[in-house]
Amino acid sequence: MEKKILDILKSAPTPAYVIDEKKIRENLSILKSVEEKSGAKILLAQKAFSAFSLYPTIAEYVSGTACSGLYEAKLGFENMGKENHVFSAAYREDEMDEIISYCGHIILNSKNQLYKYRDKILSAGKKIGLRINPECSTQEGHEIYDPCSPKSRLGITLKNFAEIDLTGVSGIHFHTLCEQNSDDLEKTLSAIEEKFGKYLYDMEWINFGGGHHITRDDYDIEKLLLCIKRVKEKYNLEVFIEPGEAFALNAGYLVTTVLDITENDMPIAILDTSAACHMPDVLEMPYRPPLYMSGENGEKKYSYRLGSQTCLAGDVIGEYSFDEPLNIGDKLIFMDMAIYSMVKNNTFNGMPLPDIAILRENGEYEIIKRFSYNDFKERLS
Ligand SMILES: *Cc1c(COP(=O)(O)O)cnc(C)c1O
Repeated sequence: MEKKILDILKSAPTPAYVIDEKKIRENLSILKSVEEKSGAKILLAQKAFSAFSLYPTIAEYVSGTACSGLYEAKLGFENMGKENHVFSAAYREDEMDEIISYCGHIILNSKNQLYKYRDKILSAGKKIGLRINPECSTQEGHEIYDPCSPKSRLGITLKNFAEIDLTGVSGIHFHTLCEQNSDDLEKTLSAIEEKFGKYLYDMEWINFGGGHHITRDDYDIEKLLLCIKRVKEKYNLEVFIEPGEAFALNAGYLVTTVLDITENDMPIAILDTSAACHMPDVLEMPYRPPLYMSGENGEKKYSYRLGSQTCLAGDVIGEYSFDEPLNIGDKLIFMDMAIYSMVKNNTFNGMPLPDIAILRENGEYEIIKRFSYNDFKERLS
C-alpha cells in the first residue's frame, strides 16, 4: 500500500469501512470492457455492495442493478435508474405493484408465482423470467452458498419446469456460482443446454446470475466472453450477468483500533470492531480475512488472537502475527472489506456501526455516513 494511503487510513476515526474509489473504478473498467467486448449487459447485484453514494459512478460503466426484493429494487431505481432486475424466491402480494413499478425484469421462482403474477407483470409492460435450477453443483464445501445443493428452494428443476405453461415468459435466469472462475460457468452452461436447451430457442434473454469473480487476477475473461458469445449466437438471446463481489473486490478496508491487549495461552488483542457485527461472513462462511502487514499465527515474530469487545466468546477474527509487538492504540487494516460487510452488519451487543467513508482518487478522506446510538435504538422497541 502507498505510504500516503496508509497514513490516511491510519488517521481515520475507527471503526470505519473505507471504500477505495480508485480500486472501484479499476474494477468497473474491467466490467465495462466485458460489456463492450461481449455485448452482454452487466448489473450490480446490490446484495453484495449497496453503497448508493457511488451508484452515479457505477452507472458510468455498467447497465444497471440487480435486486433481491422491494427495498433493493427501490434503492436501485432511485439511485441508479438504469436496467433494474429483481429475483425473489417468492413475492408478497402487498409489495408486487411497487416492485413492478421499479423493475423492468421480474424473475419468478415457481409455477405458482408465474400463474399468480403473470397478468399483472405483462399488463405493466414488464418482462418475466423464470429462475431455473440446472442441478449442477460446481462448488464444494460451501453448501450455504450453493443453490444447487440438495433440496434447494432456489430455481425450478427440469422436472417441474416441464409442467409449466410458458406463455408470457421471455427469459431464463440461473445463479449457481460463488466466487468462481469461468470454467465453472462453462460447465454450468453445458448442463443448462443439455437440460433446458430446447426452451432457450423460444426466449429473448438469459441472465447468468452472479458469482463470477471477474475482477480477480486469475479470472479467465476470454472464456467468459466465449460463453456469452456462444449463447447469444446459438439461441439469439440478450445476455445479462449480475455479479456483486466483482464490483468491489479488494476495494475496501475496515480500519480498527487496538483497545486492549491481554493474554490467555497466547497474546490477545481486543479491537473496536467485531466479526459478528461488522464482518459476519468471517463467522458464517467462515474465513480468515486478510489483514495488512500481517502473517499467519507464528509466521512473524509476534502472534496475537484478534477479538472483539462483545461478550460472544466466538467473536474472534483470527490469529495473526506481526513483525513488531502490537500496542494499545495501534490501527489495524482488514482488507477486502467492501463486499458483504456494510450490507450485513448489525448492532448486536449494542456495538456501534463503523463509519462509511470513501477514499477519493485525489487522496481525500470523505466520511459519507456516521452512525449513532439512534441507529441501534431505532431498530428496537
Ligand atoms: C448473490 C447473488 C448475486 C451476486 O453474487 P456475487 O457472488 O456477489 O457475485 C447475483 N444474483 C443472485 C440471484 C444472487 O443471489
